[in-house]
Amino acid sequence: ATPLAIMVGTGRGAQLGTLVRGPDALEDTRDVQVIVLDKTGTVTEGRMEVTATFAPALDDEATAALLVGAASVEARSEHPVAKAIVGSTTERAPLKGFRSTPGHGVTATVSRAGADGSHADVTVGSARMFDRVDDALAAWAREREQAGETVVLVGRSRPLGGGLLGGGTATSTREPLAAEMAIAVRDRIKESTPDAIAAFRDLGLEVVLLTGDNARAARAVADELGIDRVIAEVLPGDKADVVSGLQEGGRRVAMVGDGVNDAPALAQADLGIAIGTGADVAREASDLTIVSGDLRAAADAIALSRRTLGTIR
Ligand code: ADP
Ligand code: MG
Repeated sequence: ATPLAIMVGTGRGAQLGTLVRGPDALEDTRDVQVIVLDKTGTVTEGRMEVTATFAPALDDEATAALLVGAASVEARSEHPVAKAIVGSTTERAPLKGFRSTPGHGVTATVSRAGADGSHADVTVGSARMFDRVDDALAAWAREREQAGETVVLVGRSRPLGGGLLGGGTATSTREPLAAEMAIAVRDRIKESTPDAIAAFRDLGLEVVLLTGDNARAARAVADELGIDRVIAEVLPGDKADVVSGLQEGGRRVAMVGDGVNDAPALAQADLGIAIGTGADVAREASDLTIVSGDLRAAADAIALSRRTLGTIR
């Protein structure tokens, strides 16, 4: 079906640019009781920057080489964390065999990334990608996360199938993968978000922060915004299930998101609201699109539908 796009014609709706997808969208908007907000790119700008790296067991040269390896792998990923790491160095190493594990991280075989300058499989991602994270790295990560930053880890392993004397392919299980470096990235809360949260509360909505990110980082952002309920470390495929869980008991749930990951959850919600600057599939799965990315437009749409539809009936 071709989406019917009309502008919400009054107040900030018009100013902030809210596109309504179908005639029924505003009808559902009125009864919303819960609003679920994706974190990265929705509550925050979604433009992450590397703030610090930590690699206690590596010298400066090895640290720099591993960062180049990480950036080379992340150049293949669209994730906001990946863009931050890519932006932190200009040098790139040749790579092959890129693999992405959605919600966890990425791996590829990188030239010159081994400790001796040989090829290595470089993995970048959350702690779940690693078999071993030593105490010093874990403590550093915890501290940065408590301050609201996202921390990803980097580690190397010998490539499977490579380096066997006398030919042949290695098919045995790989060695345990240890994290060697931690990278902290920071995102900014959108300037308009605190006002939007206040407006959601004035409308009597329960506000829920939903993210694939680490629970400590998510909690720090939620605390800064006065959001009580945080559902973190949710895998991309599970966001829609979280929304259906919140719908239990017949509660009407709105969801705001921007990413490819968010599309199923936006479709599952009674009211799906996409951020206009986000992924096409997120917009296609939604009832409303906020062109400007300003969350106050979501509160305005709900207030407007309550006023207009409330008086018509
Ligand atoms: P979000 O809800 O913030 O969009 P995702 O489900 O996409 O979260 O990712 C969750 C976590 O997985 C990230 O915070 C990060 O730790 C890790 N991750 C996912 N993709 C990548 C990547 N390309 N590089 C590094 N880490 C990643
Ligand atoms: Mg997002």
